[in-house]
Amino acid sequence: MSNQQNQPEQELLCSICFCPFEITESKYTCANPKCNIMTCAVCLEALILFSEKSNLIPTCPSNDCNGIYIVSNLINISPDTIKIYETACLNFFMKDQGDNIKKRI
Ligand SMILES: [Zn+2]
Ligand SMILES: [Zn+2]
Repeated sequence: MSNQQNQPEQELLCSICFCPFEITESKYTCANPKCNIMTCAVCLEALILFSEKSNLIPTCPSNDCNGIYIVSNLINISPDTIKIYETACLNFFMKDQGDNIKKRI
């Protein structure tokens, strides 16, 4: 009689694609220390690409959080994606500045 339970204590899933993380896989969290949303590298890269196209800063997929992803958290993300991330932030601030200037005119 085999009564062994091979279940991991708590399986960690990517909050976007719901794939379980490999033990060695990098997990990414936003800058909000209270947030427990974790994403895999693939989803985070997709999030960054989407944000750049939409002139948004890459933020946490959780509606309750909306924390931003900061560069120092983007470990093991490709340099190309980091560049896109920087462009996304720059575009966002430019747009923000632009809107502020328009309001003053
Ligand atoms: Zn994922
Ligand atoms: Zn978050």
